[in-house]
Amino acid sequence: MRRQLFIPILAFLLPLAGFAQQEKCFSSQLMFENLQRWPGLADQRALLEQEMKAFEAAHESAPMERMVVTIPVVVHVVYKNPYDNISQAQIQSQIDVLNTDFRKLNGEIGGLPVIFSGLSADVEFQFCLAQVDPQGNASNGITRQQTYLSNIALLVSTDGRRRVHYDDLGGTNAWNPNKYLNIWVARIGSGFYGFATPPGTAPAAEDGVVIDPIYFGTEGIAASSMPNHLGRTATHEVGHYFNLYHIWGNGFNSCADDDEVADTPVQRDPYSGCPSHPQSSCGASAMFMNYMDYTDDGCMAMFTLGQKSRMTAALYAARPELLSNLACTYVSTGEPSGLSAPDVYPNPATDVLNIDWPLSAGQVSARITDMQGKTWMQAVATVNNNAETLTYEVSALPAGVYCLHLYGAEKQYTLKFIKI
Ligand SMILES: [Zn+2]
Repeated sequence: MRRQLFIPILAFLLPLAGFAQQEKCFSSQLMFENLQRWPGLADQRALLEQEMKAFEAAHESAPMERMVVTIPVVVHVVYKNPYDNISQAQIQSQIDVLNTDFRKLNGEIGGLPVIFSGLSADVEFQFCLAQVDPQGNASNGITRQQTYLSNIALLVSTDGRRRVHYDDLGGTNAWNPNKYLNIWVARIGSGFYGFATPPGTAPAAEDGVVIDPIYFGTEGIAASSMPNHLGRTATHEVGHYFNLYHIWGNGFNSCADDDEVADTPVQRDPYSGCPSHPQSSCGASAMFMNYMDYTDDGCMAMFTLGQKSRMTAALYAARPELLSNLACTYVSTGEPSGLSAPDVYPNPATDVLNIDWPLSAGQVSARITDMQGKTWMQAVATVNNNAETLTYEVSALPAGVYCLHLYGAEKQYTLKFIKI
């Protein structure tokens, strides 16, 4: 039930006075601290909340039809012990979990209680490791920095900045937070697994998600973190990043506050472990399998349609530049007069793929992915004059449909081709 549509900012801060039990997630407390620490942030948050609510209200009666969107992600690995310098495979496993959970492709969906199954949503958000950095260079979407600080994620410098977010404080600077979802993977300590900043609740340099490396993804050093080894910490935190609150609201031991989502039942407290359905809370059957609760990774299963609506509003009204960043899938950025698109032939291809890109000089990098986004080939070529043909050997590719991503100095393209 939606108990309070418009919760003034101070009202949701009040229940934070005491944390009666161990928190896995630092987000509520972080929001409280940030809004106190940074002058002007509360006003900024209030304005964004108005805009997000207006967006949601405008689409309430007629849900928005839109394409599946892909959010470019950069993962900043900040480690003291080399053990925490997690592998690319572990990082990719987390992206895979996000893509499964936000697209309702997770196996637990089939086991949802009947009363909730009709509420579960395909959020239609996908995530990719950014293929280009803010300077336009090809990238794998991962930065790595060794730090001298233990449990850096909770450390705050004397000027109030959280160290993990700054090069000069032992952490790593964000990539433009309007255009990328920044995820820092760094030790947190104090029993916390992760935290995130809902829109407008942090200085721009600190906007994003932080996850402890042993709860990030499903492989590598996360594999033995049972029962929280399935990458759901990041699913939960990315939910916060797109403006979801905990399903029990922002205060413990209360049925009076809510998560501002209409189709999630009011809930008094977090659930932990793996309860059996039904569980009663505040006179309703508790949706403890929601990603925004505190249950074990394997017991979480769903976002609701109402949560999808709230996240969609956050994306379009508060984080719209994520939509216009082409760091996931390059498409033509427009045709300056007189320039032509690359010519790719033969298509279908058998042994080689030729690319004529007559007016692009300088470094050209190419990447071939399948339709699931898996990279099969990467290459860089230098075009010395304005009439070069690039030739790529593709005979080893299995037959199928592929995307050829071309990154030039001024322009980028994605073109489909068929390998037979
Ligand atoms: Zn949380």
